[in-house]
Amino acid sequence: TGANGDGSPPMPFPQPVKVQEIRHTKIFINNEWHTSLKGKTFQTFNPATGVQICEVEEADKADVDKAVKAARAACQRGSPWRRMDVSSRGRLLHKLADLMERDRALLAVSCGCNASCCCVVASPDDTFMCFTRHEPVGVCGAIIPWNFPLLMFMWKVAPALCCGNTVVIKPAEQTPLTALHVGSLIKEAGFPPGVVNIVPGFGPTAGAAIASHMGIDKVAFTGSTKVGQLIKEAAAKSNLKRVTLELGGKNPCIVFADSDLQLAVEETQKGAFFNQGQCCTAASRVFVEEQVYEEFVRHSVESAKTIVIGDPLDPRTSHGPQIDQKQFDKILELIDSGKKEGAKLECGGVAMEDTGLYIQPTVFSHVKDHMRIAKEEIFGPVQCIFRFKSQQEAIERANSTEYGLASAVFTRNLDRALSVSAALETGTVWVNCYNALHAQAPFGGYKMSGNGRELGEYALAEYSEVKAVTIKLTEAL
Ligand code: NAD
Repeated sequence: TGANGDGSPPMPFPQPVKVQEIRHTKIFINNEWHTSLKGKTFQTFNPATGVQICEVEEADKADVDKAVKAARAACQRGSPWRRMDVSSRGRLLHKLADLMERDRALLAVSCGCNASCCCVVASPDDTFMCFTRHEPVGVCGAIIPWNFPLLMFMWKVAPALCCGNTVVIKPAEQTPLTALHVGSLIKEAGFPPGVVNIVPGFGPTAGAAIASHMGIDKVAFTGSTKVGQLIKEAAAKSNLKRVTLELGGKNPCIVFADSDLQLAVEETQKGAFFNQGQCCTAASRVFVEEQVYEEFVRHSVESAKTIVIGDPLDPRTSHGPQIDQKQFDKILELIDSGKKEGAKLECGGVAMEDTGLYIQPTVFSHVKDHMRIAKEEIFGPVQCIFRFKSQQEAIERANSTEYGLASAVFTRNLDRALSVSAALETGTVWVNCYNALHAQAPFGGYKMSGNGRELGEYALAEYSEVKAVTIKLTEAL
């Protein structure tokens, strides 16, 4: 019935234990045994005899809260578990395996079996051959936003097609034309009919239909966190289709006094104002160490005032209009809230007087963490500058958000750059740069900035099913 996979003889079955010894019936939290907070227990039965074995402490919401608190503390940055290197974790797992082997008779009888299942799962011998097949997921739905119509289209379609899937994609209602033109190129390139299908339309109708469709096997979405939650819910309630989400961000930059300050000013502003701030990675929170705070603010204001605003098709301009009236109004309302809540408006903050939905590049200093401009995704050209005293404080405030998409560190100290990069809870960290994207590197968010990764090898995994095929051979290999 199998071997250990290392050439050693199969593990003998443990001697059957007739009288079951019950050692533990309590809730296990923090390596300690706890009674249920509500004092409840439930019975457990022997299915072979129908006889009750014992009563077990019954966990309820409060006990789960206690367990989650313990697990959260144990995975805090700097905790013994987080500091442990992978080989030490491996040693602990081996030690656990040894102890399980020692207690296998007890464990087997708790499982209610003769432990043969444990021998089978241990590892088949060399008369078995196992290989994997990477197969397409099937029909992939995609719902994309308006801020990068072509880029978002290709980030979804290219890995899907590469892995052999077919696609039904809905571009944003504000920007359907780019996707439709690429549709014509897909035909011209010679892709077979039905491989890529483009359905321009609105979110609550066409978008929602994709998310809940029983004939779609996976959905990839980029957009707001609120709609991301709706997509996941619809996917779960329909056919449990796979979901990848790229959502919002409230991305922090930490600028240390030892950084190249001019570079930090340029890169953080590029991050804040690129695409008029309509960017999920927009560098909207900049934490600056107190010694260089005033200087950083002064240079940032000077730099913001040099940005040339105008027709986006004019090569001399670098700052165009916002996408639509709704976004325009939302940004101005948030700027207003910043002023009312006491942040200092250093420059910008108003719409341009001529036609078009133009908003001047806006810099706020003396921003406090509780303000709306510090917490909400603005999706407009607004840079918020905060002051900090210590590295630890900067990390904690940078991480103090429901989002976790991108961040940046500016310092000349390599040790600091590495330790702060490790501490930031974001899917991307830039050091002494911003928005530098490699098509080969994964892109995605921690926390409420999304699930899964786009780009590179990680994206291919999101668009593939992996099948394990195991063959029993008549002769050993
Ligand atoms: P959104 O999330 O409403 O729209 C993005 C896409 O989702 C569009 O294609 C839209 O048609 C579709 N959609 C909307 N409602 C849907 C639903 N119920 N079911 C399925 N699909 C649906 O974003 P928006 O209204 O264009 O912008 C609102 C905010 O979202 C912005 O201010 C910004 O904060 C954020 N946003 C983020 C990104 C990003 O790249 N992460 C992109 C665009 C917008």
